[in-house]
Amino acid sequence: MQIKIDDKIFEPYLLQSKVEARVAEIAQQIKTDYKDRQPVFLGVLSGSFFFMADLVKQTSLDAEISFVKLASYEGERSSGKMEVQLSIHTNLKNRDVIIVEDIVDTGHTLKYLLDLIRKEKPASVRVCSLLYKPAACQIQFEELQYIGFEIPNEFVLGYGLDYNAKGRNLRDIYRLAAI
Ligand code: 5GP
Repeated sequence: MQIKIDDKIFEPYLLQSKVEARVAEIAQQIKTDYKDRQPVFLGVLSGSFFFMADLVKQTSLDAEISFVKLASYEGERSSGKMEVQLSIHTNLKNRDVIIVEDIVDTGHTLKYLLDLIRKEKPASVRVCSLLYKPAACQIQFEELQYIGFEIPNEFVLGYGLDYNAKGRNLRDIYRLAAI
């Protein structure tokens, strides 16, 4: 069923069951890859909060959880300008860091965050993003090891992702409807 948020109409795209199944697969992969290690999951707020919770619960690793909040986005388009609104309080030196992102679009946010984290001298850094828009991404990331879904260059919301601060609590992921 289509939904209207402010001036836009959205249609269902990735249903909750499909997202849940994929999150479970990624969690299993991370569980295997980080066996006997104690990674730090670093969630990028606010969009990753559902994904982060569902993912980390299912890895059952002896992990630490931390968050960072960056601002760069207004309405539907990335501005490229970045600001740290909530910084990382966990000591990342010599730690295995897994950045948990909702979506990698142009890649500017991730590039900025990776530069920030590398200064803390972690043992390793990998990125886990629920969604990835390869056609929009301007940077190649070898750290982007875990991807939920590669999607076309379309605006999506739900399962943590918003439009004008709305729609984050939708269980399914929606995309802009073709009119
Ligand atoms: P990037 O810096 O990679 O262009 O953008 C990253 C951030 O832009 C994401 O963390 C997210 O907040 C926002 N973003 C990018 N694409 C979308 C989208 O399709 N929907 C929503 N809701 N946010 C997006």
